[in-house]
Amino acid sequence: MAEEKSQFEDTIGYTLHGSRYLNVTNRCGILRCAFCPKFNGAWSVKEYDMRLHHNPSVEELVEAAGNPADYKEIVFCGMGESTMRLDVMLEVGRKLKEKGAKLRLNTNGTGSMLNGRDIAAELVAVIPTLSVSLNAQDEETYDRHCRPKNAGTYAAVIDFIKSAKKAGGDVTVTAIDGLPGVDIAKCEAIANDLGVKFRRRVLDDLV
Ligand code: SF4
Repeated sequence: MAEEKSQFEDTIGYTLHGSRYLNVTNRCGILRCAFCPKFNGAWSVKEYDMRLHHNPSVEELVEAAGNPADYKEIVFCGMGESTMRLDVMLEVGRKLKEKGAKLRLNTNGTGSMLNGRDIAAELVAVIPTLSVSLNAQDEETYDRHCRPKNAGTYAAVIDFIKSAKKAGGDVTVTAIDGLPGVDIAKCEAIANDLGVKFRRRVLDDLV
């Protein structure tokens, strides 16, 4: 018989490198990245099991964040796309901001497409620092690795980055070094053209 886990055992908050991370959702909605640990039967980040058995509430997420003064940053980043639960994330963000938290969102950049409107300004108003996974220098390479359900997703991610920058966000674009066909120098050049920062990531490093 399969082992059953209680929702109370879910990893809602976890600590890495002196920052506190919040696991908002396991769902991504549009992307099904071939390199994603969850599609390869691995749900752990370091020692943490990221599989959620329920959607954490605002109260649970705020509690899981702990005392913001104890951490460098509070980061919305689970094994899923946090903008799938935009309202919940923003409410948590507002509550944590009142407690003096420095907030960041790690996103795949599909938030506007997922929500059917440009969400960049409302996002940046609460969470001013964004790391956006661009993951490839062109649509063909992107589609091969990220396997989006929707046509035009790569262009939508670029639009989201532009919009977040325009809204005053502190935006860093990331790409994973080592994925076949991904040209890190070209990804960095795209970030430079968009006027945002760039960071090279390594595979299996979700942060
Ligand atoms: S966006 Fe992130 S969590 Fe979602 S499928 Fe891709 S790698 Fe996995």
